[in-house]
Amino acid sequence: MIGILGGTFDPVHFGHLRPALEVMEQLHMDEVRFVPCRIPPHRHAPEAPVEHRLAMVERAIEGQPGFCVDRRELDREGPSYSVDTLESLRAELGTDVPLCLMMGMDAFAGLASWHRWQDILTLAHILVVHRPGSAAPRGPGDPLTRAATRDPDDLRRRPAGAVFFHPVTPLDLSGTAIRAMLRRGESPRYLMPDSVLEYIRMHGLYVTHARDEATRLA
Ligand code: ATP
Repeated sequence: MIGILGGTFDPVHFGHLRPALEVMEQLHMDEVRFVPCRIPPHRHAPEAPVEHRLAMVERAIEGQPGFCVDRRELDREGPSYSVDTLESLRAELGTDVPLCLMMGMDAFAGLASWHRWQDILTLAHILVVHRPGSAAPRGPGDPLTRAATRDPDDLRRRPAGAVFFHPVTPLDLSGTAIRAMLRRGESPRYLMPDSVLEYIRMHGLYVTHARDEATRLA
């Protein structure tokens, strides 16, 4: 069973890494693939360029068995639709292996606006991890609610089609909050791997507004 965690990772932080590890260990996954997106279809453009976001994920997962980076969205033109990513993974991995598209509750809440969202469940399971501040958004008649299962073994019995909610250690972290800290000149240390913070400092990422502010005040 393979987990797929897509995101902007702008930057990657423990709110991505810790839930991914808990899911992988507790649901006995073979691997979790981190898939940084090039152009997110449902939100504002990421602040850091793709190659930096990719490099930060590579640093963050270094040495963790089972974690890997998948750069297929970076190499594809146009918006990074999850359904295209899943189709390309299916073409590569075959029809039998269970795939779990992992997402936080906030992303799940917006799923009905995703490109060809109904097709996603024909390609993968949806594995929703709890996220502070986001509640389960759907009523009983919703197709995603009807696909929900409480039995994690369902995820390995078939390759796709189930929605599963998994509680994880709640970490109230976001890329937005970390970028804001960096702009204010505060340290996001202990919210992300030191190796990622070093990379951010080395390349002067996420300080643009602070620099503008300094210039204005000078
Ligand atoms: P931003 O604040 O820039 O939107 P983010 O950290 O919320 O950043 P992404 O990097 O796009 O967002 O998140 C990738 C995936 O990880 C999404 O499915 C999101 O719901 C999930 N995720 C992000 N942070 C957390 C967290 N603290 N707890 C649980 N899931 C999270």
